[in-house]
Amino acid sequence: MDFNLTTEQKALKAEFDEFFKEEEKRAPENWIGGFETRFENDENWEYYRSCIDNAAKKGWLSLPWPKQYGGRELSYIEQALFAQSAEYHRVPAIDVHLSIVSAGILAFGSDEIKNEWLPRMSKGEIDFAQCWSEPNAGSDLASLTTKAVEDGDDYIINGQKIWTTGAHRANHLFIVARTNPDVKNTKGLTYFLCDINLPGIEIRRLDYMNRAHVYNEVFFDDLRVPKKNIVGDVNNGWYVTMAGANFERSGAGGIAAMQRDMEDLVQFCKEHTRNGQALSKDPMVRRKLAQITVEIEKARQWAYWVSWQQSADPWAFSEPSAAKYFMTELLVHLSNTAVEIMGLYGTLKQGSKWALLKGKFESMCQATLGFTIAGGSSETQKNIIAWMGLGLPRMK
Ligand SMILES: Cc1cc2nc3c(=O)[nH]c(=O)nc-3n(C[C@H](O)[C@H](O)[C@H](O)COP(=O)(O)OP(=O)(O)OC[C@H]3O[C@@H](n4cnc5c(N)ncnc54)[C@H](O)[C@@H]3O)c2cc1C
Repeated sequence: MDFNLTTEQKALKAEFDEFFKEEEKRAPENWIGGFETRFENDENWEYYRSCIDNAAKKGWLSLPWPKQYGGRELSYIEQALFAQSAEYHRVPAIDVHLSIVSAGILAFGSDEIKNEWLPRMSKGEIDFAQCWSEPNAGSDLASLTTKAVEDGDDYIINGQKIWTTGAHRANHLFIVARTNPDVKNTKGLTYFLCDINLPGIEIRRLDYMNRAHVYNEVFFDDLRVPKKNIVGDVNNGWYVTMAGANFERSGAGGIAAMQRDMEDLVQFCKEHTRNGQALSKDPMVRRKLAQITVEIEKARQWAYWVSWQQSADPWAFSEPSAAKYFMTELLVHLSNTAVEIMGLYGTLKQGSKWALLKGKFESMCQATLGFTIAGGSSETQKNIIAWMGLGLPRMK
């Protein structure tokens, strides 16, 4: 792999940076960035929607897709540059659900599905929520029990999903349900796209430990979804799911967000003193900051490597898993270290006049723990790396 950007990539990166620098100026007063915060209140959601609309107008939501579906046929390196620029500027113009669903559609969708959904997705018209996990099916997702039964031109879905991020703001769901209970777990699943306003969907708020409303439980009671909304073949939904899961895990933009957070933390240490001494002169603080800086740089290089791999082989599994594992654990480390350096003031919530850096790191401390679980826990990622990356025997 060549780690240098081409002339075109450098020019595109400059265009992204200039655009997102301006978009950042429109952020709500208490905006701290991050994926979850967009769902927390109306003001944040409106900002997110306007950023998505503006990025869509530029044709930037679909950079790697074929031109016929609204894409630009660029590689995942350009996609990574876009994500990094947006996240560095804390502009919510990235929709991970769009990447997940589009990867499944591009790999397995019929022409009809591609023509109906991808152009609308590239225009930013669709906000999906991901209905995969269930109360008894998370790491072992293939054991899910939500049932879909054929009925004329439709399937009727019954069951419960959990941890559905942003379902209370979304206008569509992507659902994995069991269509054949008589075959091996992974064989009898089907992948549906569905308008959230159809009858038979109930969304219940699920408060996170910091009391934010980001997650939900979703209940299906005789939800009728047309057959034409199935992605891939009936009973082949596991592979559509896996095609998307990979793109949930590569997380190139998150590293740029961390880099920005680090810059804020370093600046904070330069400007604040403890026991009469600048934090920036405290050897313990300096060592911690230096260590995290090195880790972020490692993660950044790995993200480019994953993007390059995904451009060549979208089915590369262990590299995105390694990126996800490394990056989310690093996020926990960064946020805990920041609060530790800030002392008790660092634990104050956004909204308190004493909160430091808008309570950003206090919020991150709570949110990042969930990131090591969402999209497959750290243990799951290690299992994938051992099995698919190192060729070790698969655990039953
Ligand atoms: C913040 C957050 C957001 C989420 N958003 C969504 C969403 O939008 N949509 C959605 O569908 N889901 C979502 N999820 C669900 C997420 O995918 C699951 O929580 C995750 O896959 C783990 O499943 P589980 O919670 O059932 O835990 P379990 O699978 O019960 O695991 C419990 C513990 O056992 C460990 N474990 C399990 N199996 C193994 C094994 N074979 N080897 C070693 N250790 C193992 C796990 O690592 C974990 O520590 C979200 C979760 C979180 C926390």
